[in-house]
Amino acid sequence: MFEKILIANRGEIALRVIRAAREMGIKTVAVHSTADVDAMHVRMADESVCIGPPPGTESYLSIPAIIAACEITGAQAVHPGYGFLSENATFVQALEDHEITFIGPSAAHIRIMGDKITAKDTMKKLGVPCVPGSDGGVPDLETARKVCEGIGYPVIIKATAGGGGKGMKLAQTADDLEMAFKTARSEGKVNFGNDEVYIEKYLGKPRHIEVQVFGDGKGTAVHLGERDCSLQRRHQKVFEEAPGPVITPELRDQIGKVCADAVAGIDYIGAGTIEFLYEDGEFFFIEMNTRLQVEHPVTEAIFGVDLVREQIRVAEGLPMSFTQDELELHGHAIEIRINAEKLPNFSPCPGKITQYHAPGGLGVRVDSALYDGYSIPPYYDSLIGKLIVHGRDRPEALARLNRALGELIVDGIDTTVPLFSALLEETAIHTGDYDIHWLERWLDDNMG
Ligand code: ADP
Repeated sequence: MFEKILIANRGEIALRVIRAAREMGIKTVAVHSTADVDAMHVRMADESVCIGPPPGTESYLSIPAIIAACEITGAQAVHPGYGFLSENATFVQALEDHEITFIGPSAAHIRIMGDKITAKDTMKKLGVPCVPGSDGGVPDLETARKVCEGIGYPVIIKATAGGGGKGMKLAQTADDLEMAFKTARSEGKVNFGNDEVYIEKYLGKPRHIEVQVFGDGKGTAVHLGERDCSLQRRHQKVFEEAPGPVITPELRDQIGKVCADAVAGIDYIGAGTIEFLYEDGEFFFIEMNTRLQVEHPVTEAIFGVDLVREQIRVAEGLPMSFTQDELELHGHAIEIRINAEKLPNFSPCPGKITQYHAPGGLGVRVDSALYDGYSIPPYYDSLIGKLIVHGRDRPEALARLNRALGELIVDGIDTTVPLFSALLEETAIHTGDYDIHWLERWLDDNMG
């Protein structure tokens, strides 16, 4: 049993991990930059270590600083949260070399899924349905033309090392191909140091459906249904829900089993998310995230399980605390992301919180590191909190979201909260009838 773990992250996700550890009787170590001395995760942890100056590259991304913090405090394991070092195979290897446990998958699995071509190839072999496209990397424009003639336009050119929406270019017709191909390559090179690209058929009106999987590293894995994250801006999720409004129990069981079997087949350990585009009743794999996702609380709400607790358990070599048959889905949950951003442009808006009040009551969860008087530093991600609601069904969850938004007060800075109040006025939000492009169009029409 771990006695002490270190959390290599900040903000709401660091609190999330501290809470799970505390319930398990495990001591926690927070790490922080000099900009985060007064951050909530530092106050809430049992111990804290300053690991460097404000820029993430010199603190939260510094592998030597984090390993030194483990050694100083005697932390036996590290939870990476999401972002930062959570999908960094070099970090996992470095921890292993120092006999510190990484609470997450193996370096090998992170490497496989971190390279999109290898990930797609692996998933295809494991029986997971993929978007039609090139067989692996496309070396030059001439090959690209041939591939596109085969699959038909429009197509999307993707950098194999890409992420966060970078290194992805759309070609509507053959005339756009050269430009899209070159841009995707150079974005891959500049942002990720790898210019290899591959090609996929561009789906016109898909939903984003992702399946939560969990493995024990010993060949057993389960799925915890899907999340629908179709409401996106610039490929970034803003509103997530579970279960998916258009997914039937039969479809859930079917795709869930395919995903659980796939990760069991590679002895995957810990939490993972297999992302799909879903169109006309068909699933198409796009990528796998080998970490806890920002939107994991909606899955926790409907299944009544603590995913971080499970991550810690399997990292210790313990079995998962549930089997597939024991997992029962109840009701409907929705999460909205509260970002310190100014509408309509979503420009970052750090600053001092003059007043903060979190909503409460039945079926309301707030994961946030905010407090009265806190100054949001300008150096990090703009996500400052998540509001998660759970109801017996989707209409009840939406009504609860509306009620909870009315109670929430974040004064002193601009946030994305008004966006959600406006969205709740829209019929499409209530019918659940939208695809991944709906929000962009709505923003153009309503906030452009
Ligand atoms: P990233 O790693 O940058 O997040 P993904 O491959 O997960 O890239 O794709 C991000 C988003 O881009 C998807 O959620 C979807 O909105 C869009 N997208 C990706 N592939 C396709 C495709 N083949 N057709 C249409 N849209 C796509």
